[in-house]
Amino acid sequence: MSELLTTSLLPNVIGGQRVLSPSLRTLPVTEPMTGEIIAVVPLSGADELDAAVNAAREAQVEWGRTPLKDRVQVLFRMKTLVEAEQDHLAEIITRENGKTRAESLGSVLRAVECLEFAASLPQIATGEVLEVSRGVECKTMRYPLGVTGVITPFNFPFMVPLWMIPMALGLGNAVILKPSEQTPLSAIEIARLLEASGLPPGVFSVVNGDREIVEAMCDHPGISAIGFVGSTRVARKVYERGVAAGKRIRALGGAKNPLVVVPDADPEMTAANVVASVTGCAGQRCMAASVLLAVGDVDHILALIKEKMEALVLGTDMGAIISQVAYERITGYLDRAEAGGAQLLLDGRNASLDEAPEGGLFLGASIIDHASPEHETSCDEIFGPTLTVIRCDTLDEAIAIENDNPYGNAAAIYTSSGGTAQYFIDRVEAGMVGVNIGVPVPREPFAFGGWNASSFGGGDITGPSAIDFWTRTKKITTKWSDRYRSNWMS
Ligand code: NAD
Repeated sequence: MSELLTTSLLPNVIGGQRVLSPSLRTLPVTEPMTGEIIAVVPLSGADELDAAVNAAREAQVEWGRTPLKDRVQVLFRMKTLVEAEQDHLAEIITRENGKTRAESLGSVLRAVECLEFAASLPQIATGEVLEVSRGVECKTMRYPLGVTGVITPFNFPFMVPLWMIPMALGLGNAVILKPSEQTPLSAIEIARLLEASGLPPGVFSVVNGDREIVEAMCDHPGISAIGFVGSTRVARKVYERGVAAGKRIRALGGAKNPLVVVPDADPEMTAANVVASVTGCAGQRCMAASVLLAVGDVDHILALIKEKMEALVLGTDMGAIISQVAYERITGYLDRAEAGGAQLLLDGRNASLDEAPEGGLFLGASIIDHASPEHETSCDEIFGPTLTVIRCDTLDEAIAIENDNPYGNAAAIYTSSGGTAQYFIDRVEAGMVGVNIGVPVPREPFAFGGWNASSFGGGDITGPSAIDFWTRTKKITTKWSDRYRSNWMS
């Protein structure tokens, strides 16, 4: 059963062992819903990373040679275990991250889908064979990269690691996970579940830490590839540093996702969906909408959005903010907007805390109306439950504002016209587009990934594009007989 929910120092997982870090640098892990300290995370040093790489290198040789059909049996068993333990896992996620119970459970079930997809690798990672000349055959075979790294953010401590880990392991790699130091508990659970599913020791490791370990991972010659998810500032840095060290890097960054609402949108469906997108996970997700491009007269829909946001009960309908630093960053945007004369249609700083757990970091939803496209709340990733409304006369104006934004994670339109939706889809600069859906997460077998400053390294993080990322191919050309002579290859 769980080793967690104690206030003791969390271990690293190296070579199949729980190892206590000798590092003198540690951080408390605080429960956002209550303010209680629930664990202490070590900020490991480069020696611990070395030990994990050495153990992983040794274990990966045999694991990489194990047939794919046998490797994925571990993922089948893991899926069953995760389903059986979904309530326990959701509890851990809620405690370390502050999501509502329903959101935590949803993220566990989404992780199950990723395990299912990776378990189907024998059906989808089959390679190709073709007779390229008479009697000459060419085929591709996929090989693992070796020891790989996975670096993750605080906001989905179970799901985001499992976007990458099942595919990387299933394809024969060893994985070293560096979880967010703010939410490190789920990583230890992932290690426990993989062990219980029969993964050989050393193939999966957890090294806790902060910037120092991330930089050491980028530089380490024993790590071939890194999958990173986090803010654009760090994603860019990991990409540049890792590539300079000769690694393959896929790094997803931050976002500023717009929703476009046109007058023919269904008011009730639109309002409910916009509110869910802005306030889900208290706005702390890369797919959260934070800008509404209101085309023409949609005041009746805005009024409904406000009404639904006001009705949200903090602690039940909306979870907590991850840290005091994050709380002050979000309220700082509201303070400055108010001081600058912005129209605060709804002010989350005044939301009722009556039903929220005591000691938690709760903030209600806010709406800033009639903002200019240049205002900081229209441009910056605030990562909290705030919605900035920019008024536009035409759909083209809304699309131009969206496309000026350097990010390109997600965008959505609310309309009842198929033609309007297609016009938007064809022009908007975003990797994931929704029609009447504010969190357009492409579920397996489709791949998750944004464009522009939301993604570095090309390709997507899940789905079929992960097969190419976590493997390298050999192209083998074979001839067994000299009987055929039709061209230079025969
Ligand atoms: P973050 O970038 O601060 O941290 C991500 C990881 O990088 C953590 O493991 C952290 O320890 C490490 N890190 C932090 N600062 C570092 C530095 N200076 N040098 C090296 N490593 C560093 O992100 P976060 O605050 O944990 O998560 C929120 C961000 O993640 C948001 O920007 C959100 O949009 C983004 N995110 C993106 C996606 C996506 O799919 N595009 C998904 C989830 C979250």
